[in-house]
Amino acid sequence: MADDDTTDLPYRDPARPVEERLEDLLARMTLPEKVGQMLQLDARGDLDDIVSTKLAGSILHTAPDDMPRAIELAAATRLGIPLLTADDCIHGHSFWPGATIFPTQLGMACTWDPDLVEQAARVTAVEVSATGIHWTFSPVLCITRDLRWGRVGETFGEDPHLIGELGAAMVRGYQGDGLTDPTAILACAKHFAGYSETQGGRDASEADLSRRKLASWFLPPFERAVQEGCRTFMLGYQSIDGVPVTANGWLLDDVLKQQWGFTGTLVTDWDNVGRMVWEQKVCADDVEAATVAVRAGNDLVMTTPAFFEAAQEAVARNLLGEKQIDEAVRRILRVKLELGLFENPRAPDLARQAAVGSPEHTALNLEVARRSLVLLTNDGTLPYAAGPARALDAPARTVAVIGPNADDPQANLGDWAGASGQVDWMPDGHPRETVETVLDGFRAVVPEHWTVTYARGAEIERLVPDPDGPLFPDGQPRPPVSVAAPVDADQLAEAVGAARDADLAVVVLGDTMALTGEGCSTATLELQGGQVALLDAVVATGTPTVVVLLHTKPAVLPPSALDAAAVIEAFSPGMRGGRAVAELVLGHIEPSGRLPLSIPRHVGQQPTYYNQVRGQHGHRYADLTQEPQFVFGEGLTYTTTTWSGLTVTGGTDLTEVDTVRATVTVTNEGERPAHEVVQAYVHDVVTSVTWASKELKAFRRVVVPPRESVTVEIEVPVAACTIVDPASRRVVEPGDFELLVGPSSRDADLLRAPFTVRPTPTRGA
Ligand code: BGC
Repeated sequence: MADDDTTDLPYRDPARPVEERLEDLLARMTLPEKVGQMLQLDARGDLDDIVSTKLAGSILHTAPDDMPRAIELAAATRLGIPLLTADDCIHGHSFWPGATIFPTQLGMACTWDPDLVEQAARVTAVEVSATGIHWTFSPVLCITRDLRWGRVGETFGEDPHLIGELGAAMVRGYQGDGLTDPTAILACAKHFAGYSETQGGRDASEADLSRRKLASWFLPPFERAVQEGCRTFMLGYQSIDGVPVTANGWLLDDVLKQQWGFTGTLVTDWDNVGRMVWEQKVCADDVEAATVAVRAGNDLVMTTPAFFEAAQEAVARNLLGEKQIDEAVRRILRVKLELGLFENPRAPDLARQAAVGSPEHTALNLEVARRSLVLLTNDGTLPYAAGPARALDAPARTVAVIGPNADDPQANLGDWAGASGQVDWMPDGHPRETVETVLDGFRAVVPEHWTVTYARGAEIERLVPDPDGPLFPDGQPRPPVSVAAPVDADQLAEAVGAARDADLAVVVLGDTMALTGEGCSTATLELQGGQVALLDAVVATGTPTVVVLLHTKPAVLPPSALDAAAVIEAFSPGMRGGRAVAELVLGHIEPSGRLPLSIPRHVGQQPTYYNQVRGQHGHRYADLTQEPQFVFGEGLTYTTTTWSGLTVTGGTDLTEVDTVRATVTVTNEGERPAHEVVQAYVHDVVTSVTWASKELKAFRRVVVPPRESVTVEIEVPVAACTIVDPASRRVVEPGDFELLVGPSSRDADLLRAPFTVRPTPTRGA
């Protein structure tokens, strides 16, 4: 065997156990090769330098054309260790032209349907795995707090239980039948943990979090992801109590690895290690930062090229032992071996790429989009002109589709897709024909003898260069600054004319890419630019007006929106979103989405999440109610349901090992099917420390046929009826509880049934 021929070495032999191969390989590696494995570098740089010189173990943001060469370069390194390739395929294969782009996580969360979310993740994995990518940085398990934060749209909303269930579903979908499944991709629970607890919504600001608060709301979805077998975790940018998460041994080791038993691989967020030097200034130089990061138990270091020299220097100076590096490298090599990358580097597979954007996938996408829409108000105008009004001999109708987001493909897709700003190879976004805007949707869906007109009506913003310069200190592009656009009288007049001449106006409003995402938090939640003036003017025409909020995150609504005939919430509804909106307006489908977060009346009400800890003076502001405009769990149907007969069956006297079992009857009083979400909350009547007065513990989707009743069974394990004690332990406190069941989190919507939890008898008692 020639010196450089590794083919017969034990680590190459798939018949040997993974651990044996791993140790054989590790023993052959030099320190630079080991440190190189810990690097995850931006593949838009010089690939030769990244893969052949710095020996990077992983790359991200690889342009489709570069992927085959990157994989070949890795194969040509001394030991031929394959690359682990990653990207943010967080609601579909974001940056692959024409891939299936689903609603964003916030849109998917409105479905309250883990099975559907799992299917969407599975489709994403099938598409992604065909293109040479092994790993998606998804799901986002951050919990929405302040809605001004730019990344609210990436979350599943504000409730830990809902986030946990939907996140677990995504993990199942991505990882498929296990890592040997060629269509499996690694899931990544992020951003661990507490990143969303911003100050004033400002991205990545210090998170003011006690360990109890973390354990109460922020950690449970991540623990759920570990239980589901999520193979990787990404760390947040922020610091807690002065310690950047990258350096937080308590979170990474005590909680994640020791308590929860996580054995997978960690990746930092973008230049987290470098940021400890240049941004947070808690390390004097890169050598200190590398030392801190390795000691805390990090594995892959995202986009800190200086880590390569710095970690080697730290070993030379005895700040780090090579054994500490070995531990991280083991966790990286293990996942590569388990994926079988040494035998098959999972390079782009042209034949399998036929599945990308396939008719089956786009059909599922339409279904997810339909189910993601939430009907917030309706004066009876919707479904519009249903039934005989649509017959060919009925008078034709004109629908005016109006608004800056009515025909904007990127607004449909939202962040992390095509031209959303993260990569440079799709400046024009996804192919136009793959996206159905609301205008496209109406044109496709209205009866043939109807007319659809269009007027843009207003601009949202003007983009101006950031006065601080085009680049952040780490070299990433600084997004332009959004300045609210003035009202354009001509544009407005055209839209008012279109509305006047129409039987129905559909006004599509929202935000833009410059008003969302990383580093783009907003100070306000109002609809920007000429949008409020546009809506005021259209509603004033007297033409029945449907407001479609097509945006990345909730907005505070002007009075004219609440005066309109109906309001539909559409959080970045994806490639088929526009058609789904048209179908909903025309009653081809039933409204079925429910809000996964509360929507405030005023930005000053922040935060408005429903599960706030009880105890304050009064329950309102002096100048405004504290009630949100729309509550967590809310959403209308095209019918009316009544809820009755909540009964705890099988005993109300329980211990911690029991399950609360209950039934409730949902009766559909109308003529259209009711798509309901049965929501079960638990109220612990007296707690030893302050706690939320209700928490979601279970939910079930149900369809109730017209004029029928359905009795639904609900189960909540008593072990889930916990609080977090002052020592940050999750405990069930015996005593009186109530089960609250209904169609939303609003007290008036909930039926109540008491149950009691007795102390668990001790052995021999
Ligand atoms: C984001 C992560 C993302 C990473 C790679 C970071 O700036 O916070 O969510 O996965 O970039 O694109």
